[in-house]
Amino acid sequence: MLSTMQDVPLTVTRILRHGMTMHAMSRITTWTGEAEPRRRSFAEAGGRAVQLAAALRGELGVCDDERVATLMWNNAEHVEAYLAIPAMGAILHTLNLRLPSEQLIYVANHAEDRVIIVNGSLLPLLAPVLPHLPTVEHVVVSGPGDRSLLAEAAADVQVHEYEELLAGQSPDFDAFDWPDLDERSGAAMCYTSGTTGDPKGVVFSHRSIYLHSMQANTTAALGLTEKDLTLVVVPQFHVNAWGVPHATFMVGANMLMPDRFLQPAPLADMIERERPTHAAAVPTIWQGLLAEVTARPRDLSSMARVTIGGSACPPALMEAYDKLGVRVLHTWGMTETSPLGTTTDPPAGLTPEEEWPYRITQGHFPVGVEPRLAGPDGAILPWDNESAGELEVRGPWVARAYYGGSPGKELVPEDKFSEDGWLRTGDVGVISPDGYLTLTDRAKDVIKSGGEWISSVSLENALMGHPAVLEAAVVAVPDDRWGERPLAVVVLKEGRAVGYPELKEFLTGRVERWQVPERWALVASVPKTSVGKFDKKVIRRQYANGELDVTRL
Ligand code: AMP
Repeated sequence: MLSTMQDVPLTVTRILRHGMTMHAMSRITTWTGEAEPRRRSFAEAGGRAVQLAAALRGELGVCDDERVATLMWNNAEHVEAYLAIPAMGAILHTLNLRLPSEQLIYVANHAEDRVIIVNGSLLPLLAPVLPHLPTVEHVVVSGPGDRSLLAEAAADVQVHEYEELLAGQSPDFDAFDWPDLDERSGAAMCYTSGTTGDPKGVVFSHRSIYLHSMQANTTAALGLTEKDLTLVVVPQFHVNAWGVPHATFMVGANMLMPDRFLQPAPLADMIERERPTHAAAVPTIWQGLLAEVTARPRDLSSMARVTIGGSACPPALMEAYDKLGVRVLHTWGMTETSPLGTTTDPPAGLTPEEEWPYRITQGHFPVGVEPRLAGPDGAILPWDNESAGELEVRGPWVARAYYGGSPGKELVPEDKFSEDGWLRTGDVGVISPDGYLTLTDRAKDVIKSGGEWISSVSLENALMGHPAVLEAAVVAVPDDRWGERPLAVVVLKEGRAVGYPELKEFLTGRVERWQVPERWALVASVPKTSVGKFDKKVIRRQYANGELDVTRL
């Protein structure tokens, strides 16, 4: 029997209209580093999103599912793009401004971005890359910055001013001819880091964003309401800022956007002054903030709770924030899971001491994310908090494929998806009988430094380009300041000699300067697995046991 219920598609367009009308007075505050931040109501931001949609279609001719990219900090304009682009039927492609330029070029070309909306302060990043982006026809510049940088770089590209484009359009929601969208169609895309090869594009649907936002708004997850102000430190180019902008437009929670002021000192200042009730960021940000307020105390007491994820939150960090009256909610997720994959609400009726072992886990699975653990032989393992396996998940906001380079073409790599369609997360862990996940390892060898990813493969490939280097393996090692840093383990070709400073110099220019390792070790050979891959577990163990002769410079 068919239901008798209305079949209303779950779209970002609905989220936009709802937020700008039902929560008209809620606000987006963008930090400017000046005396006053910029404040914009949801009604205004929504109206400007309508204007942006109309300008993209009317002035720039964006149609159907063309890709409109953003190269932007977290700010009100980026939220406008988040809403306008999917609602008008195009695909929002958030470009990661921390990617090395060759990866930026790769993803923009792979997605065939037609338009890039860029913050003026990021023009020095875009200008050298732009000549390598043949599909880009329009660049829209928002905010202060040196436009002259585009003069040469953008010979074949039309440059527009964001504010001028908007000024010519009506902010009236009903004045725009919104397309009838299939809720399963693409709304936004985000590339994973290319840890084992090129970055892979995940395309979120209107439906997945809608359902993910509803989950994010449950009290077990972010639990935001109109009474909240959330500080969105997690970048908008990192998996839709963990879904926060869409979720807040659903419930009217206010947003505090740090723009480019992501250092601990301005973050502490904005918390003290604006008094957010919630915040979301990776552990490194919280480590930095803690050091800052320890050195120069500020009042963080407004933040009743903060969401920490993206990499494992050290229990000591959680304890330190507990002491400040800030409750840490530890969550796990990934680009392929939109990203909220777990929430961390301990079971009811426990004392704080009894809650603790639950709080330091990676969390509990919501109804939309069904987990299972696969053992090395593929057998499904029990949830006994002991049997460790690769976490696999499925659900309505979990990816089933990667974007294949043209609409309709998909990639379903075997190492990423099981035969029966579950996402293989690459994370290894255990699940307790009551469904709490603890990650014990990760299959990927990516290095998370200061909340950003460093691809060990990129460093290895670059190093192995040196004429004296035979083999090079790079692994993540713990670092007090950055969480993790790369350790380079190098095998020289017979009869060759080279100093570490020369190798560092060789890497500079080939990778981002901040990615160049400080720790180096020469070895006779890199340990290998049975199928001839570098065995990074062994290298990590050797490092931990002090078996490597490590030079730090
Ligand atoms: P990304 O796609 O950049 O969001 O990265 C996803 C990966 O980050 C996951 O597959 C995990 O390896 C790691 N990760 C995310 N959250 C956590 C967490 N709470 N604890 C440990 N690792 C995490």
